[in-house]
Amino acid sequence: MLYLDTRDKSVKVDFKSAVMGGMNAATGGLYVPENFPKIDLEKISGENSDFRKIAFEMILPYVEGEIPESDLRALIDDAYPFDPRLVKIDGSSYVLELFHGPTCAFKDFGARFMARAMSYFNRGEDGRLHILVATSGDTGSAVGSAFHNVEGLDVTILYPDGKISPLQEKQLSTFTGNVRALRVKGSFDDCQKLVKTAFTDSDLRKKFRLSSANSINISRLLPQSFYYMHTALQAKRENPNKKIIVVVPSGNFGNLTSGLIAREMGAPIEGFVAATNSNHTIPDWIATGKYEARPSVETFANAMDVGAPSNYERISNMYSLDEVRRLFASFWLDNDGIIEAIRDCEEKCSYTIDPHGAVAYKAWQEIMRGGLSSISAEADISKPGLTPNVPDWAGCENNSVGIILETASPAKFGQTVKLATGKEPALPERLERVMHLPDNSVPMENDYAKFRAWLEENLR
Ligand SMILES: *Cc1c(COP(=O)(O)O)cnc(C)c1O
Repeated sequence: MLYLDTRDKSVKVDFKSAVMGGMNAATGGLYVPENFPKIDLEKISGENSDFRKIAFEMILPYVEGEIPESDLRALIDDAYPFDPRLVKIDGSSYVLELFHGPTCAFKDFGARFMARAMSYFNRGEDGRLHILVATSGDTGSAVGSAFHNVEGLDVTILYPDGKISPLQEKQLSTFTGNVRALRVKGSFDDCQKLVKTAFTDSDLRKKFRLSSANSINISRLLPQSFYYMHTALQAKRENPNKKIIVVVPSGNFGNLTSGLIAREMGAPIEGFVAATNSNHTIPDWIATGKYEARPSVETFANAMDVGAPSNYERISNMYSLDEVRRLFASFWLDNDGIIEAIRDCEEKCSYTIDPHGAVAYKAWQEIMRGGLSSISAEADISKPGLTPNVPDWAGCENNSVGIILETASPAKFGQTVKLATGKEPALPERLERVMHLPDNSVPMENDYAKFRAWLEENLR
């Protein structure tokens, strides 16, 4: 498989180069596979079709000729000692729990595969590989955990000081050894900009081998497609005559891009709902046709606080605006709505949902209430709710099941959940443990020269 650059179609690289480079430093473009092979669904759709078997069949065409099958099988088994879990919450809705990995968030799926792929490709190289990662919450812990003590690799995590939850901070600042965290005086977008600037700094790249671990890396995106396929097949077995709609709480839009990849590969998914918090750059783009990146706004669903979503570049490269409008409904929800949605889900479905999943839950509720049929082209897009866009699948709602992606354990956002329901969910043991470790983060100005100086001093 070859990978194309979103900004320069003449660039074609292999999987290893796309993984190790993260993005194309010369153009600032992102890598996209040149095609999305259809999977033989017969082969993977049996009653006891295992998640790892589906993962193996799906990733194979993307790494063929670069990772032998036996090594690939071992890599997949090592990456996924846990499964996604599909939970039915009412007659037409499922929640897909993606938080059963080590850091209790869906980013474990992408990060654990990426760490093992990088480690695999780094074996033949001399010198260490330095991973720079900006995080608005869960990326840092997932990446830190996935790379911790992996031979030959170092990780530097940048996060916005004071803008992530105390638990999230503990989860990414308490590593020792090869994983370090910088707390930046700025927003997530500032962190992302520092990282992007480092990648385009050719002098710096002459001194150090740098790579990224954000959702811009294709080796994080491809493995997230596994659970879409796994789940769509399961939901289809349970509801053979219904259409499957997947509702994705989105920030940087990596997760949703992975859903698009799964659909291209043959997953029986009829359409998607792009659901955001008050950072509604993408819903506005779908409504108006104009893409306007903006500064991020802080919300209760803070892992989605992204005003300039990187994967817009991939989505708009893979599809025309018209195709996006036919495939996606879109929706956004403010903080008050998030609290109400958590409460509503608890009361109606006896299911404790986290603030990110709550955005998707509410989007699906609105759609099931017939929201798409009463949408007005003049709807005010500065108000929360469904975006004035009617996808091709609208009208089939009553013959559909919605799969709401639950991207984090509600225990990670206990304060917000308590605000809504009056009860704080218990911390799983693996989270309880990190709360007692010392914070090793280093303060950093939002200033590229200072960041660069720190790298020069600290990278080996
Ligand atoms: C990162 C994250 C998201 C957003 O995912 P994107 O791929 O950036 O759209 C949603 N929920 C949680 C809990 C996350 O950590």
